[in-house]
Amino acid sequence: MCGIIGFAGKEMQVAPILLDGLERMEYRGYDSAGIAVRSGERRLQVKKAKGRLQVLLDLTHGGADLEGTLGIGHTRWATHGEPNDANAHPHISENGSIALVHNGIIENYLDIKEHLVKLGVHFTSDTDSEVVAQLLEYHYNECRNMLEAVGRVLRRIEGSYAFGIICSDYPNALIAARKDSPLILGRGENGNFIASDVTAIIKHTRDVIYMDDGEIAVVTAESVDVFDDELIPVHKKHHKVDWDVSAAEKGGYAHFMFKEILEQPEAIQKTVSPRIRNGRVVLDDIKLTAEYAGEISHIYMVACGSAYHAGVVGKYVWERLLRRPVEVVLASEFRYSQPLVDEHTLVITISQSGETLDTMAALREAKRLGGRTLAICNVVGSSIAREADDVLYTWAGPEIAVATSKGYSTQLAALDLVGLYLADLLGTIEPAEYNAILAELQALPEKMRRYLADYESTQYFASRYFNHSSVFFIGRNLDYAMGLEGSLKLKEISYIHSEAYASGELKHGTISLIEPGTLVVALGTYGPLFDKAMSNVVEVKARGAEVLAVTTEAFREKMEKTADAVISVPETHPVLQPSLGIVPLQLFAYYVALQRGCDIDKPRNLAKSVTVE
Ligand code: GLU
Repeated sequence: MCGIIGFAGKEMQVAPILLDGLERMEYRGYDSAGIAVRSGERRLQVKKAKGRLQVLLDLTHGGADLEGTLGIGHTRWATHGEPNDANAHPHISENGSIALVHNGIIENYLDIKEHLVKLGVHFTSDTDSEVVAQLLEYHYNECRNMLEAVGRVLRRIEGSYAFGIICSDYPNALIAARKDSPLILGRGENGNFIASDVTAIIKHTRDVIYMDDGEIAVVTAESVDVFDDELIPVHKKHHKVDWDVSAAEKGGYAHFMFKEILEQPEAIQKTVSPRIRNGRVVLDDIKLTAEYAGEISHIYMVACGSAYHAGVVGKYVWERLLRRPVEVVLASEFRYSQPLVDEHTLVITISQSGETLDTMAALREAKRLGGRTLAICNVVGSSIAREADDVLYTWAGPEIAVATSKGYSTQLAALDLVGLYLADLLGTIEPAEYNAILAELQALPEKMRRYLADYESTQYFASRYFNHSSVFFIGRNLDYAMGLEGSLKLKEISYIHSEAYASGELKHGTISLIEPGTLVVALGTYGPLFDKAMSNVVEVKARGAEVLAVTTEAFREKMEKTADAVISVPETHPVLQPSLGIVPLQLFAYYVALQRGCDIDKPRNLAKSVTVE
């Protein structure tokens, strides 16, 4: 999920080039880094370390210590196994002949690992990636042809990957392969490259080839050859990159937040796809049995900020699927509220960073009272992940912008997965409903991409409304839950005063604040209550509000009759609709903040991970 670089050089020492490339990809975030270089007669040398790249730079004296002109480098964002030296990449096969770097997730790594362990292979890390290095050695020993061995490995593994591979028997060649993780090839004057990001190599070349899923490349100092999954050569187009070096920072995006909004389809895919096998949700990572599930009397979702809003969505979804009471509580309140927790209480703690202090304290309180805890976190090995009884990682990749986007939407996806899983254990969901939600969950990334393909249209609404000083988000049920997050997004990055209300509550007070020109963002994506949402739009229109509505494509026409402006998103199962509806709200907040000249990635007074009370 982070960075890969590889270089087959004519004469230049490779290690400093690799380290420089990794440095240029630092913007992607990472938790450890490493390089492998082929030097001297058949030797592979590996240096890797947890932490900042500077640790690796110090360890290798800026790369000067490693001789050789062929090598691979990696920055890791842990998904399987804590960030530590042993789990850092490159991974070396047992006999030391193959070094491999990997971005992505190998979904069936446990099965393969079990098989290899039976054959006597020893593993030195907890990663899914090492399994591929060992499997490659196994197949290479069978056929003694690296390209053929890679082909055999790719036929056995499932999941997402970009690989960079070197082998001590091949002094001049790098091998690369990709599926669902980015990888490009670059042709330079002094040698050729592989990289997960143009940024890493733009200093050396602008002549690149974009690898497609299923392709394998063999790269030497003089040649770049690409093969399909049957190992048949394919002819690839060359592209000229016309970015300047400064635009390459942040991968060409103006802000991390924008980049992360656009990364959401891929992030959700990483959360969901490894957990679905043969049409079922399979949660290898958590140990909740049907027996335990049957004894759950009460569920808490405990979190702060956007993660709390994910919990509010989760409450609506889980109560519908599990027929059990679900209460969402702010972590800072939960810890001091003498919560009613016993051994039949399941406490879900949600935190992107896994370091949120209030959530951590709430988790400890829940455990002290005898509850069972399950954490939903993004950062592998974080404090909350380590202390909870079970953890489900969202695998969203690093999130750098202070205001969350993909962190939140992958939390929703994780809650959907666990909700379906528990409902299945409890037998509270009809098979047809289970299958329908699961199918839609898998289709979410594609539908989100469809909406994002035209992200610029949101910019128009932002330029129309950016100078309002007060905004109300209204909606019912899941639209209300989604509005809480949409409203927070807007206020945290654009500093506009904004409130979210359950539409039905308006006439119990808030409607007195609606006056001619007040901006109301009316959410009408939740099909079962669309007509009610419409009535509320009429209600605020009658008081002179300016209404920007967010609805689904199917309801667009109806909504257009009343609202002043309408944004529509693709339709999905009603319980998943917030995952699509939130995207225009994130973009709206982003573009409004942009128009107002705000510091989008680092809003005033806010920190990414709140580790104080
Ligand atoms: N799944 C691999 C690991 O945990 C690769 C992570 C990455 O993409 O950086 O080591």
